[in-house]
Amino acid sequence: MANGKLIIFSAPSGSGKTTIVRHLLKTFPNQIEFSISATSRPKRGEEENAKDYYYLSIEDFKKKIDNKEFLEWEEVYAGNYYGTLRKEVERIWAKGKAVIFDIDVEGGLNLKNQFKGDALSIFVMPPSIKILEERLSSRSTDSPESIARRVAKAEKELKTAELFDCFILNEILEDALKKAEMVVSLFINKKAAQ
Ligand code: 5GP
Repeated sequence: MANGKLIIFSAPSGSGKTTIVRHLLKTFPNQIEFSISATSRPKRGEEENAKDYYYLSIEDFKKKIDNKEFLEWEEVYAGNYYGTLRKEVERIWAKGKAVIFDIDVEGGLNLKNQFKGDALSIFVMPPSIKILEERLSSRSTDSPESIARRVAKAEKELKTAELFDCFILNEILEDALKKAEMVVSLFINKKAAQ
């Protein structure tokens, strides 16, 4: 199958990328669709299988790695695997839509490397590490240990922002949403990939 387009949103956990991605899905429902990742981590809060993630056992996840079913995969946190299934991306391209991703920084850069001009990579920047920590605490779905791990990872990830095609500062959500709409609209309406 010929490659379609990919819109990659990466950012430290708690930067607000999920909010931005959800907004874009509502704004461009006929042109983009969310890539549901596979994960070996347990469900959190109100999450649903095949909507938020495909929840797999570690054994099944590893089997799919061996069968080369992933475009990219990673052990994002110790013992917790996340990955993008090739089949998932092809399912969305087959509908003539661009695929939008909410994935971590390494996975995002990995996809950009593979798909080059067919992919737009966007880094969502939190205003500061302190605000990021406050956002993670107020969402009250993570334990203090999990928050500490996410903050430590975020400090490293912020250094990679310049490797992305563009970045969006998420300080005032309204502004971040407008900028996201603009860059995504330009990309999906562009005739051929660069
Ligand atoms: P969470 O546990 O908060 O849902 O996700 C943890 C991190 O894993 C987030 O940064 C999220 O973007 C990332 N992630 C989700 N799906 C994938 C994926 O398919 N591949 C990679 N590399 N990271 C992912």
